[in-house]
Amino acid sequence: MGLVVQKFGGTSVADAQKIHRAANRAIDAKLAGNSVVVVVSARGKTTDELEQMAYEISDNPSKREMDQLLSTGEQLSISLMAMAIQAAGHKAVSFTGGQVGLITDNAHSKARIQRIDAERITSQLDQGRIVIVAGFQGVDENANITTLGRGGSDTTAVALAAVLRADYCDIFTDVPGVFTADPRVVGEARKLDRISYDEMLELASLGAGVMHSRAVEFGKKYNVRIRVRSSATDEPGTEICQEADTMEEIVVSGVSLKKDVAQITMDHVPDTPGIAADIFALVAKANIIVDDIIQTEHESGCATLSFTVDSGELKAAEKVVEEVRASWPSCKISYDNELAKVSAVGVGMRSHTGVAHSMFRALAQAKININAITTSEIKISCLISRDQGPQALRAIHKAFNLESAPTREGL
Ligand code: ADP
Ligand code: ASP
Ligand code: MG
Repeated sequence: MGLVVQKFGGTSVADAQKIHRAANRAIDAKLAGNSVVVVVSARGKTTDELEQMAYEISDNPSKREMDQLLSTGEQLSISLMAMAIQAAGHKAVSFTGGQVGLITDNAHSKARIQRIDAERITSQLDQGRIVIVAGFQGVDENANITTLGRGGSDTTAVALAAVLRADYCDIFTDVPGVFTADPRVVGEARKLDRISYDEMLELASLGAGVMHSRAVEFGKKYNVRIRVRSSATDEPGTEICQEADTMEEIVVSGVSLKKDVAQITMDHVPDTPGIAADIFALVAKANIIVDDIIQTEHESGCATLSFTVDSGELKAAEKVVEEVRASWPSCKISYDNELAKVSAVGVGMRSHTGVAHSMFRALAQAKININAITTSEIKISCLISRDQGPQALRAIHKAFNLESAPTREGL
């Protein structure tokens, strides 16, 4: 007998009809002879609405209480899903993250899963029940409710699939799979039949919201077969899998846009050993995730140090940087909260040249100024002005001919 994990995102459980449709998918998988675990997100825009409610009460709600509040969205969905399955005459039981022993660290709003005690789930599966688990949430060692970051239900699903050694993990969403770019921004984007974990990880970290990046990390580490599919059709979707030999023939697999990027620039920082270590120790202590770091040295013996964070973390980063500045009065600090990052990703970049040139030329032709460039083995990213983000995404998608079958002609 097989074991499958099915995850339904917010739009896929937005109303009663959609919940029944999702419930039927779970029942079909069960009738096909599988043990079935279902992970659900909050319905529709519930998480956004809950967040808004919090800001109507306080400008600065504590992270603990915010997690307590946001986790209720998923709790609503799980019980409704269990009721839908029961109404169809099948056995189901729903659990919150805490109830299935999903233990995280205590980093509220971006907690990381530390372990899952699968026993409660397996004993329910053994009794023939479909088990519904709330996505996006867990509890820390002290039983405080935590959340895994926006979009984190994917991570719950893949982590459960890993722990339970599921045959596969289906991520049901509102698009038919992973595309060469966000199909809502690039009309010509093409659905991919498969994509490697590494490429999906880069795309997800660089703004492709279709998968939570931590979910892909888990998938890669534990070799979980992940399929991203439409909850409205029976199409097979996109499989996220280990890299195959032929994948390197494709130079650029996809492009993505991260919209809310902020950059902090510290000018006239003393150019002596240990300075960067001191600054980033404080940033790490404040639990701020730093993205690209760029340091340039000047003849004067000073350096300019800049780094990017998600816009939502800018306030916290500002606080840390102002603290650091106290030690170097000559240091000038500036903030730019109007940035976006556009990226091209592909394992083929390892063995092909000319990708950077094509990308820069496409941005130049679209009259888009590049603020900073960062690269890794399989990606190139450019920081640009936020208002030009969608235009930049379309320009590079076109430059790499991603709308048609993969070739190297874009180079
Ligand atoms: P869910 O609520 O099901 O988790 P999300 O909104 O989190 O759904 O993710 C699906 C959305 O991801 C799509 O509606 C699409 O606009 C967006 N998206 C961004 N990049 C991509 C991509 N490369 N391929 C497919 N969808 C993408
Ligand atoms: N409900 C959460 C969110 O909207 C988690 C998720 O949907 O994956 O971000
Ligand atoms: Mg999502």
